[in-house]
Amino acid sequence: MNRKRNTSKFTEPLSETVDRLVQQNGGWFNVIGRMTNTFDQALGKIGKLVDCPFPSRHSATGGKLDFRFTDDASYEGRAICTCMQDRGMSAVELLVEDGIGKDYTSCMLEIFKALNPASSSDHVRKETAPVVRPASSGMTQDVIAYRKEKLFLIARDLVTLDHPSAAPGREYFKKRGIPLNSNIHDVRFHPGLEYWVDGEKGQEKKVLAGVYPAIVSAFRSKSGVVVNFHRIFITESGDKAPVSKVKKICAPMPGFAGSSITIAKTQGRVLHVAEGVEKGWSIHLATGESVKVAYSCGSLPKLHVDKAEFDSVVIWSDCDPVNPKRNRKSGDGQYFAWELARRLYKEGFEVTFMMPSGNPENVKGRDWEDVIVEEGVLDLKGFYYRLQTLKSFAVNGGVNKRHSSAA
Ligand SMILES: [Zn+2]
Repeated sequence: MNRKRNTSKFTEPLSETVDRLVQQNGGWFNVIGRMTNTFDQALGKIGKLVDCPFPSRHSATGGKLDFRFTDDASYEGRAICTCMQDRGMSAVELLVEDGIGKDYTSCMLEIFKALNPASSSDHVRKETAPVVRPASSGMTQDVIAYRKEKLFLIARDLVTLDHPSAAPGREYFKKRGIPLNSNIHDVRFHPGLEYWVDGEKGQEKKVLAGVYPAIVSAFRSKSGVVVNFHRIFITESGDKAPVSKVKKICAPMPGFAGSSITIAKTQGRVLHVAEGVEKGWSIHLATGESVKVAYSCGSLPKLHVDKAEFDSVVIWSDCDPVNPKRNRKSGDGQYFAWELARRLYKEGFEVTFMMPSGNPENVKGRDWEDVIVEEGVLDLKGFYYRLQTLKSFAVNGGVNKRHSSAA
């Protein structure tokens, strides 16, 4: 049979359709649980080591306490085990390994059939609510209470960045060429945060690797509640801390999807959106306007923007190299930023898309913080002139899409 002809009725790549269906069905943890029971033990203990569900991939030990799903929300559904390479396996790779579909595409089709409400498949009980495994989404009352307590323990020692003890935090921004002022919003300083690393293989206990000053930013949900903290571990002299992962988020509370960090909130109905605290701050310095940032490009597409607060959104995209592990022609940063642009435009916002031009195709090029600092944009007089200058460094001078009804 001719597969191409059969699939030609779809108006978007299958991967995008499946991504959307997965989100509508409660995310990958729910979907994996609906497709198979192979991962039930691991789904019940997200982030914790369990026996590998694929003992045949292991030698004599059989993978005892080697396998876990990552609790990093931006990689939901990805699992790590000693039988895998460093990056572990994605949800789809795990399902293929479990025998759902013989390869990536046929597995995606199986997921599509199972989740598509218009599917003619009789095998799926369409009225059934998605399976919610108690600990899988971290949403049992016990887990919520535990996570809340952890966030509280960090929050109680936070000070604003103009506090005398926050000098390392101010120094960090200054050294990057983007000095702070009083407009910095949901970004604070912690004098000494513990940095934990995974224990030795087979041990669930984490090991304390050091205590460092940290820049701590709050993610707020759609309703404005703090649902997580983002931490940048630094040194007393305001450099990045000597740790393997300088930036981390904590385990999220309910409402984390769609949340963002408010870097600056000023008057005016234009919102600037980027990924990363420092880039967001550099964009505020350049524009003088409100800025919200996502934790990573993967969380950009769902970022919530309030129609009551803003009319116009400027998206400051990264220009990432093409990721050979994915089936798309653009890098992750611009792919997800463009997804956000499309969504916000559909929601009725005027949208401007800014991507740095002149970046080489196969390496990570300059991002907007680099452009702002290296081109001396902050030395230019006047926000209007700065923005025009930045547009000259954007692909197509920045792409603006406004609704025709807008005056
Ligand atoms: Zn394994």
